[in-house]
Amino acid sequence: MHLTVKQIRWESDGVVSLTLVDPSGSELPAWEPGAHVEAHLPTGLVRHYSLCGSVDDPTCYRVAVLRDRRSRGGSRFVHEDLRVGARLDIRGPRNRFPFTPAARVEFVAGGIGITPILPMVREAVRRDLDWRLWYGGRTRSAMAFVDELCALDTGRVRLFPADRDAFIDLDAALGRPADDTAVYCCGPESLLRSVQDRCAGWPEGALHYERFVAPRTAEDPAARGVQTAAGDGTDVFVVVADSSGAEVKVPAGRSILEALEDANVAAPFSCREGICGTCEVRVLEGIPDHRDLVLSDDERRTGNSMMICVSRARSPRLVIEL
Ligand SMILES: Cc1cc2nc3c(=O)[nH]c(=O)nc-3n(C[C@H](O)[C@H](O)[C@H](O)COP(=O)(O)OP(=O)(O)OC[C@H]3O[C@@H](n4cnc5c(N)ncnc54)[C@H](O)[C@@H]3O)c2cc1C
Repeated sequence: MHLTVKQIRWESDGVVSLTLVDPSGSELPAWEPGAHVEAHLPTGLVRHYSLCGSVDDPTCYRVAVLRDRRSRGGSRFVHEDLRVGARLDIRGPRNRFPFTPAARVEFVAGGIGITPILPMVREAVRRDLDWRLWYGGRTRSAMAFVDELCALDTGRVRLFPADRDAFIDLDAALGRPADDTAVYCCGPESLLRSVQDRCAGWPEGALHYERFVAPRTAEDPAARGVQTAAGDGTDVFVVVADSSGAEVKVPAGRSILEALEDANVAAPFSCREGICGTCEVRVLEGIPDHRDLVLSDDERRTGNSMMICVSRARSPRLVIEL
């Protein structure tokens, strides 16, 4: 879609929201809480942004972008160069973080991780669910959409600005596993890790989360999984693209996506880090060796789909829907 930036709004320190509309006034495709779009910036960079407006308003999309001080260009461009009236090429919406209502919901958001959570909270209000939001940020002034959230139900929103020595009280939020409770979390890696640890004793499938960036520290097991994805696999295997019948050898040190590109077989991709879900394909035959950070444990076990930008195969042959 070629959309126009209708409004840029300062939401909090370091966060601007963009309102995007179709220049002809047409309605935009419907979406559900947790969905994100892929923005193709004029600089050539592709970045993903969660939709944080209203699912009931088909006339526009709202996204919010945090200025990353170490940005290689995406958020810097949005904050410094993007202007009202500019055209933005958008793909999607796509949803790898869907909200499935439960009787009780604990939402945990850190910083810009509030963006996918906000429409979920609205949905929880609409469905009259028993929900609580645990929202932390660097400072109160850096936390976007606080007024909007509090207007939904101030009694259910707990704010934790770190500059006031307030850190999200995960003991209170997740201290006791509960059968009828779902946990939805988005935020920095440290928060995701803590929430994962707390939810270790919770019923399987209770925790749902989304990462915005791939972890990068060498000590981080998740980072090791992603960064060594292509280099790790020593075994050569063959990947078969089902529709074209193309058979491509994937050597050690190459990802499936790279091997397909080498063989001129077109495949969808975006982040190349196993984090955005764009390259997800169905697995028709063979055993995937998952290296992404998107699929849940359950999805990995069933092996029905995989992210070809980082994952490899445990079987000598893999047939994928492509
Ligand atoms: C599903 C999804 C939804 C998202 N939703 C949002 C949203 O709603 N709002 C939002 O602001 N962002 C969102 N993001 C993140 C967004 O797409 C960008 O990744 C983010 O804005 C940073 O982009 P950038 O170009 O400014 O920074 P980048 O240049 O991509 O850098 C990001 C960080 O990673 C580090 N880094 C990057 N590459 C390397 C490297 N090769 N080696 C070492 N360090 C590196 C940088 O130091 C920096 O801290 C989402 C991402 C995903 C996958």
